[in-house]
Parts: sequence; C-alpha cells; structure tokens
Amino acid sequence: MPNRSMQRYVEIAREPPAEREVRERLKDFQEIADRFTEAEARRQASRCEQCGVPYCQHFCPLHNNIPDWLKLTAEGRFEEAYELAQSTNNLPEICGRICPQDRLCEAKWACTLEQAGHGTVTIGAVEQFLGDIAWEKGWVKPRRPREERSEHVAIVGAGPAGMAAAEELRAKGYQVSLFDRQHEPGGLLRYGVPGFKLEKDVIKRRTDLILQAGVRFIGGFELGRTTALADLQKEYAAVLLALGAYRPKRLHLAGAEKTTVIDGLSYLLASMDEPEVMLPSGAAAKDAKMHARGHHVAVIGGGDTAMDCLRTALRQGAASVTCIYRRGEWDRPGSRRELEKAEKEGVKFLWNAETRAVQCQSISMIEGDVRSCVGGSMATLFIDQYAHAGREARRLSIEADFLIAAIGSEPALPEEYGAPGLATNHKGALIVESQTGATNIPGVFAAGDLARGPSLAVWAIRDGRTAASGIHRFLTMLANRDYSLAKA
Ligand SMILES: Cc1cc2nc3c(=O)[nH]c(=O)nc-3n(C[C@H](O)[C@H](O)[C@H](O)COP(=O)(O)OP(=O)(O)OC[C@H]3O[C@@H](n4cnc5c(N)ncnc54)[C@H](O)[C@@H]3O)c2cc1C
Ligand code: SF4
Repeated sequence: MPNRSMQRYVEIAREPPAEREVRERLKDFQEIADRFTEAEARRQASRCEQCGVPYCQHFCPLHNNIPDWLKLTAEGRFEEAYELAQSTNNLPEICGRICPQDRLCEAKWACTLEQAGHGTVTIGAVEQFLGDIAWEKGWVKPRRPREERSEHVAIVGAGPAGMAAAEELRAKGYQVSLFDRQHEPGGLLRYGVPGFKLEKDVIKRRTDLILQAGVRFIGGFELGRTTALADLQKEYAAVLLALGAYRPKRLHLAGAEKTTVIDGLSYLLASMDEPEVMLPSGAAAKDAKMHARGHHVAVIGGGDTAMDCLRTALRQGAASVTCIYRRGEWDRPGSRRELEKAEKEGVKFLWNAETRAVQCQSISMIEGDVRSCVGGSMATLFIDQYAHAGREARRLSIEADFLIAAIGSEPALPEEYGAPGLATNHKGALIVESQTGATNIPGVFAAGDLARGPSLAVWAIRDGRTAASGIHRFLTMLANRDYSLAKA
C-alpha cells in the first residue's frame, strides 16, 4: 500500500501566494504578491514528496537544504526550518521573493513533482515565509562573533555579494569595513530592483542587521576616485571587490548617435526617486529627469531588466509601453514568470523584431551623457519583424518619445576603478579562483557580478560566501606563517 501521507501532492494543488489585482497594483510600487499564512505554508510545504533525489537543492546556487526545511515547515516547526534555511543563505526572504525560481529550484528539471505533471512545490514562497516570520517572531539576530580577531578586511561594494561576505567574515571575528559609492548599503537590491518585486524595508532590515553585528559602513566612497586599490591594500589585511556590473552595453542602431536613448539600469536607478542616487555615468539621479509619465515608451531588449523597465513605466503612468525584442518569446534569457506579469499588466510585445534605425524628430539633451527624447519630441523606430527564421521580414515603424535600451551591462575595467593589474576575461569580468574568489593579486578577492558578469542575487550571495571563506583561509595562513616565523 502506498503511504498516503507521502502523496499529498495528489490532493493538494500547487497554489502560489495570491497576487493583487492588476488595476490596484499599477497604482503603486508595492510588492504584488501576498505572503503565505502559516496554514498555507504548511499545506504547500507538505506537497514535497521527499523524493530522495533533491535536484531542487542541486539547482539552487546555494545548495539550500530545501527538502529538510520543507519537511520542518510542513510539521509547523518554523523556527527550526528558518535556522536551517539561514544556515546556507544570508538573505532567505529576499531570494524567496526575487530568485527566478522557474529557472532554478522550481525548474522543470529540478522538481520531481513538476516532472510528474503535478506542478512544482512553491519553494521560493515557503522560503520567503520562513524569513518573514523569523523577523516577526524576533528569531533573526545579528551574528556577532564569540571572539574578536585583529585583522581588518575592506569590502568595496555593498550589494548582496559584499553583504554576504561582510556578515560571514564578521561572524568569524574579523573587523570589517564595507565601502560603497551610494549612501546606503544594498547594491542593486536597494537601488535597482523595483519595489514591486522587493520592497525597500525588506532589504533595509537585513543591511541594518549586518551593521548591528559590528560591520562598519562607509557610504559616498568611490574606488578609483576616493582612493585606489593599492592604498586600501596598505591599510587592510585583505580586500574584497564586489562592485557589480554597471557599464551599459552600447546599442548599435542607425541614428542612435543623433537620437537619445536611456539605458535601462539608469532609468531604474532614477525611478527610485531618491535624489542622492548616483547613476552609472557618475551623474546624480536628480539631474536626469527620466520619468515616463504621459510618454509613449519603447524598450529595446527582452530580459528581466527590460521587464522591470516596462513595468516601472506602467506604474509611472506612461501613455503606452511596448517591448521590442529581436528573438521569440521562448528564446528570451529571463524568467517566464516575469514576462507573464508584464503581459498581464498591459505591456505590448513585438517579438522577433529587430530595430534597424531610429530617427528623433527633434533632439533634446539632458545632463552629461544621458540623452533622451524625453523633452516631448517623438522618435520613429524602424523595425524588421520576422515571422519565421529565414523568411522575409515585415517592415514596420512605431513612434515613441521615451526610448530605453535594456540590452545588458558589463563590469567596468580595473583601470576605471583604480585597480590596474587585475586580470580580466574577454567580457571584462575579473578572473578569480572558483573555490576562494582570489584574484591574481595576493590578498585581493572578488565576488558577484564583477567577477561573474551580470547575473543573479543568489549567485552574488554564493560568491560572497565563497570569498569570505577564501579570505579566512588566506588570513589564517598568514597568521600561522607569522607565528612560525616568530617562533623561528
Ligand atoms: C534592474 C535589475 C533587476 C534585477 N532583478 C533581479 C531579480 O529579480 N532577481 C535576481 O536574483 N537578480 C536580479 N538582478 C541581478 C542582481 O541584482 C545582481 O546580480 C546582484 O545585485 C549582483 O550583486 P553584486 O553584489 O555583485 O553587485 P551590486 O548589487 O550591483 O552591488 C555592487 C555595489 O558596488 C557599488 N560600487 C560600484 N562601483 C563602485 C566603486 N567604484 N566604488 C565603490 N562602490 C562601488 C555599487 O554602488 C553597488 O552598491 C537584477 C538586476 C537589475 C539590474
Ligand atoms: S535561494 Fe533561490 S534557488 Fe535557492 S531555494 Fe531559495 S528561491 Fe530557490
């Protein structure tokens, strides 16, 4: 006889948390999904059949012990479940909210239930529930060390990679200074990912926690401008670079040089509505008047940053919002779920559509190198749309007065941030040892998008943890060598 208690997925359907009505959610920048109640979390977690081949764990970049914390949740043992979840993930409720689970732990190839046609376990939503309830119940505590160590580590870049490394190193007793050019920590989670995916107080309570553990945060510090890497090396026992990837890729489009195109990341940074935010160009967000209200917005690009731009423009009150992507909807790089949300909210999509040229009817210049047709002038976009590969294209044109290119970004080169001598790969990302995060310069480590190219928060967390253990090993070896030298 099969054990019925192990087959609850047959009776209990997959039910992710409910989402707010489209009309309501377009009025603000609050998160769109509700959170599980305790009963819902237990019910959904109980769908996991404990299959014994946890590919979910394998495909989670942090190798979270998913089956075990699902089991504990199903049993109502939330505190133990949270303890387990946080033992491998510094930001569990954040990953629960923003990981593209359909490409990771909840992918077709990752969950046995999905393969069997029952619908994947709602792993991300349970992880979010555990993190949120832990905050509410007071189970989340700063990880202060039992013993202090004298070595001082500098971490430059306070995004998820820098935050994870800072928390891990501090817990081991190191003195940690976390530098960033922005005035608050959090990186793209704070200043790039829109509030409808991740509300800002959710990241703030985590950044506050790291500071409560004794990490020192120094904002308004730009490596390459405030100081150079060599100076940091003189002052600190080890340096971790976690600067992200902010240099926008150039759009190669006839007429683009005479027209005005906003890069997607700058638009999203400016949309945070925080005057002190610094754009990738170095300009202050307050000087770049990038607001889509009343405009006809066209976004070139089809990844998740493009989806964020499109959905932000809708919330800012754009007159129309169109996405133009050169490949088909099934060939795009991002999460299917993000695309479905954008479709539901009213974005119009042009698939297999190659933008050939753009002509702006009268150019208006904005500060610095940020230029756009935002002054009210219309641009015409000339597009070739392909029905099938190899077939002749249909020619069409659309009009837009707010043109955004969301075609990706890449890391800055070491010379630009005062760190010549660091080895990079063909994409400009720093080359690091995969097990330690060590660069080619002894004592200098790197993590996150800077070393990986634009990726995901969960990979940045993993890299930050890897670099923290690499730094710990490096400093321990140095200390032991000094000790043996001292003894000799
Ligand atoms: C619009 C957008 C939406 C995204 N949505 C998601 C999502 O839904 N899910 C997901 O998993 N990932 C998402 N990502 C990707 C994710 O945010 C990144 O992969 C992740 O933040 C990388 O972490 P990081 O710590 O390497 O870099 P970042 O988060 O970029 O942090 C780098 C920090 O370094 C600072 N810095 C840069 N240069 C200097 C300097 N010279 N001196 C001092 N400080 C400096 C920056 O100010 C920043 O705070 C998104 C990215 C974007 C752009
Ligand atoms: S961290 Fe991301 S990939 Fe890993 S279990 Fe959580 S939601 Fe899934």
